[in-house]
Amino acid sequence: MPTAIERLEQRRIAQKWRKSVPTAIERLEQRRIALYQRLQALGDFRPGTISVNFRKCGKKRCACARPGHPGHGPQYLWNTTRGGQSQAQNLRLGPELEKARREVENHQVFLRLCRELVEVNEKICRLRPAVHIRDEKELEALKKKLQKQFLRRPRRR
Ligand SMILES: [Zn+2]
Repeated sequence: MPTAIERLEQRRIAQKWRKSVPTAIERLEQRRIALYQRLQALGDFRPGTISVNFRKCGKKRCACARPGHPGHGPQYLWNTTRGGQSQAQNLRLGPELEKARREVENHQVFLRLCRELVEVNEKICRLRPAVHIRDEKELEALKKKLQKQFLRRPRRR
């Protein structure tokens, strides 16, 4: 049997633990708000990559036909694949390339923020307690309803 002091200490720890749970949720909720704000402020973004290419034009008399010549360029090319289809765009060196570089970078930030949002949400879901149902009938009705939902056979098409 624990002594009175031990029981008191146990209760104090339990209270402290109960108090710390909503604080953790609140912290995560704040983090979630911050992530949404960053998403909203992100600006334009696009997927894909920008590559630098040197190209041989194929004309026999051109300088690029000589051995050791890197080819014409550098040429800056943005490209991505969507649904198995490749998309590409030539970018002019200067503001056009700078704009596309920022948009592609922003897409990476977008993906990172989305991953973080999912992680934060998952943590919130794990920490947030379910509602407590005191009413026996209400609780039984809920259990029956859930069992029905989960045991239902998958529909055939
Ligand atoms: Zn050439």
